[in-house]
Amino acid sequence: MSENSGIRKKLDINGIMFRTWLLLVLFAFGIVLALWGLQMLSLTPYYRSVKVNTVQNITRDINQKIMESEDFASDIVEVTYNNNLCLSVYNHQKKKLTSVNSLGLGCRITPEAEFDDTAFLNEVDHSANSEVSHYVTDERFNNESLIYGSKINSEIGSYYLVINANVEPVDSTVFIMQNQFIMIGIAVLIVATLISYLLSRLYSSPISKMTSGARKLSAGDYHVEFDDKSFTEIKELNDTLSYASHEPAKTEEIRTELLANVSHDIKTPLTTIKAYAEMIEDISGDNKKKRNEHLEIIISETNHLNKLVNDMMVLTKVQSGNLTLNCTDFDLVPLSEEIIDVLIGSANNLNVKIEKDFPANAIIHADRTMIGQVIYNFLNNAIKHCGADNKVLVRITPENEDWKLEVIDHGIGIPEEEVPYIWERYYKANKTYQRNQEGSGLGLAISKGYLELHKFAYGVKTKVNEGSTFYFIADSEPNEATNV
Ligand code: ADP
Repeated sequence: MSENSGIRKKLDINGIMFRTWLLLVLFAFGIVLALWGLQMLSLTPYYRSVKVNTVQNITRDINQKIMESEDFASDIVEVTYNNNLCLSVYNHQKKKLTSVNSLGLGCRITPEAEFDDTAFLNEVDHSANSEVSHYVTDERFNNESLIYGSKINSEIGSYYLVINANVEPVDSTVFIMQNQFIMIGIAVLIVATLISYLLSRLYSSPISKMTSGARKLSAGDYHVEFDDKSFTEIKELNDTLSYASHEPAKTEEIRTELLANVSHDIKTPLTTIKAYAEMIEDISGDNKKKRNEHLEIIISETNHLNKLVNDMMVLTKVQSGNLTLNCTDFDLVPLSEEIIDVLIGSANNLNVKIEKDFPANAIIHADRTMIGQVIYNFLNNAIKHCGADNKVLVRITPENEDWKLEVIDHGIGIPEEEVPYIWERYYKANKTYQRNQEGSGLGLAISKGYLELHKFAYGVKTKVNEGSTFYFIADSEPNEATNV
């Protein structure tokens, strides 16, 4: 934890925080700069058009006053001073009638400013809509001013109005705007930093959690939980990691349990093998008959060990979910015959008769090897637990569209309360029953794993001292599990 925060404190230019911040700041500054550039380019033309508009409005206003008011001279003075202008009125013969100046020396339409009014008014005459506007720069005061002239045709006759207005230097506006943009820039920087901090916290905290979980996982802690569901992508990644962590955890659990459970089963035959080998060495070595008897026991125990180890490996595979089905359409009848042939020897040894009740054929869709193993386990158990009648029946009957296989014996049966447990590995229903040399205690657990992998129905009907019927129902068509 302290290590993590130590890492986080350092500025990591490849980290989510810095990258988000950089992107946001660049984006925000890009927008601010674009706005600024646009403003700067459009400011001067915009400002000028506003100024001309204002002067045009003033012209209309003055014309109105001339038309309506008796005392228009004082009205013109008032308008001129209010708007900080310099104004001259000419009659239709271009003779100056009056002029008002609120700009003093700055007025550009006076003879002192070398204004050629005749030429200007001629220009007005020749212009398309009888108005002209010029911008002139006064070198003395280093300011710009607008000279606007217009010919007005009214009811009382035509006359000219020439107006001179100062144009505020755009520089000062630019300066104001520059300041504003700097302030906006600083605000943007603060907001971007804040947002990037919050965003990066939002994104990096589940990632940090995952990293520390993954570290634990790599150190062998398979029980670590990846359960952060803040975002869909994070959730998917967490689900994958959880799956990846639980898989070895499951295998590990099964392995530990198996080792604990089988140590006894392995130790017993090993002890027997050792004891008989020592007996051959010390006692029966020269006695052929005795030696062969002892060797038989050693071979039998070795076979048992071999079967136990094989079954353990199969069960580990089944329970870790690492088995894949290899399904085909095949006939259950010849498969059952094959299994009976394999077990007929041991049945004969125990004086057990295997009876069959099969249809002509029974096509199912399944993994042939696994189903063969299930029939083997059911039949092998039935032979071992067969009753006084010494008979075992293998029956195949139709079940709706599918096929039911039953292995029936009339032996000791299984107490009702123990039935759910017989499918567990190493469970022995009949505690007095001595371990058969062939039995590994894993047969039904493996059968259960195989049948569940196929999603086939299975079970046992049993009654103490009356016998047991182990069965499964195999689908004739591919189902969701066998459709591979
Ligand atoms: P194993 O037969 O090697 O002990 P299984 O997994 O095949 O192991 O069977 C588990 C237990 O279920 C057996 O030990 C036995 O107690 C019980 N069992 C299985 N089949 C029968 C049966 N046909 N009749 C009575 N009990 C049975």
